[in-house]
Amino acid sequence: MSDSKRFSPTDIPHRVRSALEEAPESIKSWKQQVRENPSAVFDPTLIRVGIYIVAGLLLFAGMYWLVGLLTPEFDPKVWQEPTAVATLYVACTNSECLQHSTVKKPMDFAAWPIDCGQCGQATVRRASVCKSCAQWSASDPETGRCPVCVRRESEQNRQREQIRKKRSTDPDDLEDGWG
Ligand SMILES: [Zn+2]
Ligand SMILES: [Zn+2]
Repeated sequence: MSDSKRFSPTDIPHRVRSALEEAPESIKSWKQQVRENPSAVFDPTLIRVGIYIVAGLLLFAGMYWLVGLLTPEFDPKVWQEPTAVATLYVACTNSECLQHSTVKKPMDFAAWPIDCGQCGQATVRRASVCKSCAQWSASDPETGRCPVCVRRESEQNRQREQIRKKRSTDPDDLEDGWG
């Protein structure tokens, strides 16, 4: 292999210079062509490249549109691959029931609430352990509160009320001056 045929970094400045020297010439000749024949501005190569780009974009947009158009019409059975099923903790928000259990539902199940197996009402929702009462419960959709806590509070209130009533009717307690 001779040295002259090998690419040498020292050639680069020379090559760049010669390219720069040629470039104005080719631009000048192109300008000359355009001046003589304005249609020469539409270089066939450029036009072809432009057409390819536009065609590619149109094809992409078309595919995108087509996929969007067809997707809802696909037979759901085609897509019924084994759905991931999750075991979910649920609880009834009916204050008279409050039953909690687990159910198996698809991962993307969203049709809450579901029917309660105990009281029959459609009041069963996703459950979590309540931070206050440590019971499995689903917060009431209207109040956002734990129904177990609410029931406990009302029971406590009822007991307090009973004690108060008992005291108020008991003459001894009144004299003791408890309150
Ligand atoms: Zn229930
Ligand atoms: Zn609670």
